Amino acid sequence: MKRIAILGSTGSIGKSTLDVIRAHPEEFRVAALTANSDTGTLMRQIKEFKPRFVCINDKSLALKLKIVAGNKTKVLSGEDGLSEIAGEGSIDLVLLAVSGIAALGPLLNAIEHGKSVACANKEALVAAGEIIMRRAKKNNVSIIPVDSEQSAIWQCLLNNDSSKIKNIYLTASGGPFRKASLKDLRNATLEQVLKHPRWKMGKKITVDSATLMNKGLEFIEAMFLFNLRPQEIKILVHPEAFIHSMVEFIDGVVMAQLSETDMRIPIQYALSYPLRLSGSHLPHLDFYKLKELHFEKPDVKKFPCLGLAYRAAVELGTMPAVLNAANEVCVERFLERSLRFGSIPLVIEKVMDRHKNGKNPDLETIKQADSWARVEAQKIIEDKQ
Ligand code: NDP
Ligand code: MG
Repeated sequence: MKRIAILGSTGSIGKSTLDVIRAHPEEFRVAALTANSDTGTLMRQIKEFKPRFVCINDKSLALKLKIVAGNKTKVLSGEDGLSEIAGEGSIDLVLLAVSGIAALGPLLNAIEHGKSVACANKEALVAAGEIIMRRAKKNNVSIIPVDSEQSAIWQCLLNNDSSKIKNIYLTASGGPFRKASLKDLRNATLEQVLKHPRWKMGKKITVDSATLMNKGLEFIEAMFLFNLRPQEIKILVHPEAFIHSMVEFIDGVVMAQLSETDMRIPIQYALSYPLRLSGSHLPHLDFYKLKELHFEKPDVKKFPCLGLAYRAAVELGTMPAVLNAANEVCVERFLERSLRFGSIPLVIEKVMDRHKNGKNPDLETIKQADSWARVEAQKIIEDKQ
């Protein structure tokens, strides 16, 4: 029985994780649940799973939770509470499904306490990937990828020699605007952006999927997770999204991982690894019904966020943290309808241009670069209004 802490249990990945756990009550136990402010969902989850720990980021809501949680559940709050759960001794695996840079503290704390992390969050890895991977190695901690592309690469590399990789093909569905004109794309509305053709996900990642920044972030994430250079990663648009990514080895052999497009599949493997559990509750591919698979190169002119991510991947230092922070601000402002869709890459580029990159940064320098980029992005957006 694995005792699992789900950080970000009220979100899209968090709920899918609970679905997997419901299907395998003999294998997994929910030890902790956390949310930012969605007490309604969190309270329902507490009643169903009766975890030992819960945490709500918004401290003013903790009292409300204490009333329903009962005396067998410890209610924590704020960033400290989240980090405390990540390092809690009785937990076997931390599933990190908090969105944004808020995941960085708990991720480092889990590593510090020698806990394996099933990591869905990508922003923390983009901002501080070198430090995270170095500390994970030092503490002998596994970072098990949950993001479907990273899970695919990781699965292709199990029992293979990763020093013999020629290329990684990081697949991308192409997002809702794959076929849109440049003009339509610049003026895309919030409603159009939030209507992703294939998945229902959290709002932040849905916007990132429309700008293709999601793929850019995954590009950088893959570099850190698998110790690759930028020129070893190729982004491949594959609209059917059945191939979740591929690894080409130096002898020309390509390993691919295919499955239906359902996040519960990589989540389940991240929870059960090294075992494979039954997927009778999950959709299975039917190759007799699959007619064609398509592949194309991404259009970097239409999707400038890809170029910006590539630039951050090459420059490294504090630039990935700056790219990520500026993007988080732009996405928030777009969701509030105070920034045009087409302005997102323009603002991020300006912030990157103004940034004096610091090479081999420590954690403090990364945090400072993150804060600086947020202020700078806000300034640029305000100047425009
Ligand atoms: P959601 O927005 O649906 O959920 C985010 C979760 O994190 C919620 O539980 C939310 O609480 C909590 N949260 C948000 N901000 C904070 C904070 N500052 N402190 C503490 N908790 C916080 O996101 P997703 O589930 O879609 O994505 C989660 C992560 O996984 C992201 O990094 C994303 O890139 C990655 N990912 C997601 C995929 C998907 O299919 N959705 C696929 C691959 C990766 P509340 O509900 O109270 O707001
Ligand atoms: Mg992905």
